[in-house]
Amino acid sequence: MPKLSNPSEIAREALRLLAVRRMSPSPENYRQLYNEIAGIAEDVGNAFPERELKGLLDSLPKENAAQQKLAKRFEQALKGKNWGGISEGFAELAQQLGKAQELPWSELIGNFLRQWENKQAGLTIARKREALERVLASGSGNGDLLFTRLQGLVKSWSLNAPVGDEMTLVEHPAIAGPESGAPPADNVSVTTPTANDLSNELRDTFAYTLETLVTSQLADQPDIAADARALAHKVRTATSAAAIDALLANVKRLAFRLELLTEDRAELRAGLLNLLQLLIENVGELVVEDRWLAGQIDIVRDIVSAPLNVRSLGDAESRLKDVIFKQSQLKHSLNEAKENLKQMLAGFVDHLAEFADSTSDYHDKIEICAKRISKTEDITQLEEVLAEVIRETSIIQLNAQRSRDDLRTAKKRVEEAEKRIGELQMELDKASTLVRHDQLTGTLNRRGLEEAFDKETARAQRRQSTLCVAMLDIDNFKKLNDSLGHDAGDAALIHLATVIRETMRPQDTVARFGGEEFIIVLPDTTSEDARTALVRLQRELTRRIFLHNNNRQLITFSAGVTDFRPGDTQVSVTKRADDAMYAAKQAGKNRVLIG
Ligand code: GH3
Ligand code: MG
Ligand code: MG
Repeated sequence: MPKLSNPSEIAREALRLLAVRRMSPSPENYRQLYNEIAGIAEDVGNAFPERELKGLLDSLPKENAAQQKLAKRFEQALKGKNWGGISEGFAELAQQLGKAQELPWSELIGNFLRQWENKQAGLTIARKREALERVLASGSGNGDLLFTRLQGLVKSWSLNAPVGDEMTLVEHPAIAGPESGAPPADNVSVTTPTANDLSNELRDTFAYTLETLVTSQLADQPDIAADARALAHKVRTATSAAAIDALLANVKRLAFRLELLTEDRAELRAGLLNLLQLLIENVGELVVEDRWLAGQIDIVRDIVSAPLNVRSLGDAESRLKDVIFKQSQLKHSLNEAKENLKQMLAGFVDHLAEFADSTSDYHDKIEICAKRISKTEDITQLEEVLAEVIRETSIIQLNAQRSRDDLRTAKKRVEEAEKRIGELQMELDKASTLVRHDQLTGTLNRRGLEEAFDKETARAQRRQSTLCVAMLDIDNFKKLNDSLGHDAGDAALIHLATVIRETMRPQDTVARFGGEEFIIVLPDTTSEDARTALVRLQRELTRRIFLHNNNRQLITFSAGVTDFRPGDTQVSVTKRADDAMYAAKQAGKNRVLIG
């Protein structure tokens, strides 16, 4: 083949040879053929690009041990102009990158889910969602940036204090940031905090705990609160070893004082509970004749003797209010009735006495007149006696008339008193509808349910938690009433209410909605869990069978459950539960459906 010198001819020939030799048309093969045709020595193109490679490898990260080891390896390969070493190094780098991308994401998502589910002071789900949306928008299309920002977000959530049962905390700028949940600025490093970062964060969190959380518990102990605040200042400023030693001693002293205070408070609480229990015992004995009140007192006693929580205290309070309310009504009407009866009797006795006095006087006088008549000899004497008889008779007549008038007035007063008692009775009946508990079963009545419902929905909204409502209705209750009688029906209702109360969780609210219909409000529960709870209640009812005159009576119910949704009212959610309950009846009864 003649030696070609024109570059375009060489290029054409190189392409032709690529096809003839069936070589793959890669730049490498093309260059090789081109050099061959043009007679260019190979080693010129194969010169080891040391300078370029060094520049490239210098920019590789050397933050952790693995990266540093790899850098060393590259350095040696570069020194020894060892292509094999360089390519192995790149293979490892690729592996490291793969790992680096995999591991933190799964870890981050795990942390994210944990923090999303955790409840933190001042952070609602809505705020978290808002912050997350901002992060997603700002990091869209850039995986690294998204990772960094998401990591920063999760970290800022984790720094917010966790929320206790009823505790709401003031947001603290030092740990929550000016805008809680906001992603950190671009230039802020959000990778694992260094020891220094951590100790600064610890300082800040500890100081915050002292000056906000600890002092908020010490409203009645200004001395200790002032100590805690002073200590918080020291925590922030102590840097020298001596200052840190002094700080440690102060912290220990404060901890000791707090420990003593906690013991005192526990003692105080136990003492107050004891006192309350004594009071309840006493009231219970006083009202032993009133079955309804005694029953209520029993319930309050049970609540107070169990470990306390906010709900059971609220329940105890509302039940005590009922007792006090009903007792005051009873006392009022009883005093009035007694007073009227006393007046009536006193008046009646007075009149009887007066009448008896005047009639016996009259009898005496008439007897004397009769004697005088028998002895009278002339008509004038007789006239005098007769005039006296007429006078005495008219006096007694007058007395009798007065007595009759007085008795009529007394009768009218008695009638009025009776009317007033009747009115009071009606007031009392009305009052019993104003109390919060159903008198037969001791569960909440509609009014009580309304109050409990308001509290629970507000709590659920505040905590962004789920809330479910169940409506249940006894199956074929009319038949039970008709065959066993109304009293047996009442006993069955009491039995069901007892089983519900003892089977459901203490925080679930139970109310009698109507005749044989009950509503259960289940906080922190999804509709599926609520259905499971109701099915468990059905099983429990089958196990704890109702006995009537020693005969076993199976009671079953149909129920509908539904969750409280945004925009729901008590009426709308109850209606949905009722519809689901009705569907359960239609589907054959003794079942629970979700609405
Ligand atoms: P279903 O299975 O479709 O619910 O039929 P049911 O018989 O349970 O329902 P229905 O509504 O026809 O009957 C309810 C009965 O409950 C009628 C009423 O006599 C009775 N009832 C309502 N309140 C009370 C109460 O306080 N005590 C008693 N013993 N019975 C009551
Ligand atoms: Mg019914
Ligand atoms: Mg029924």
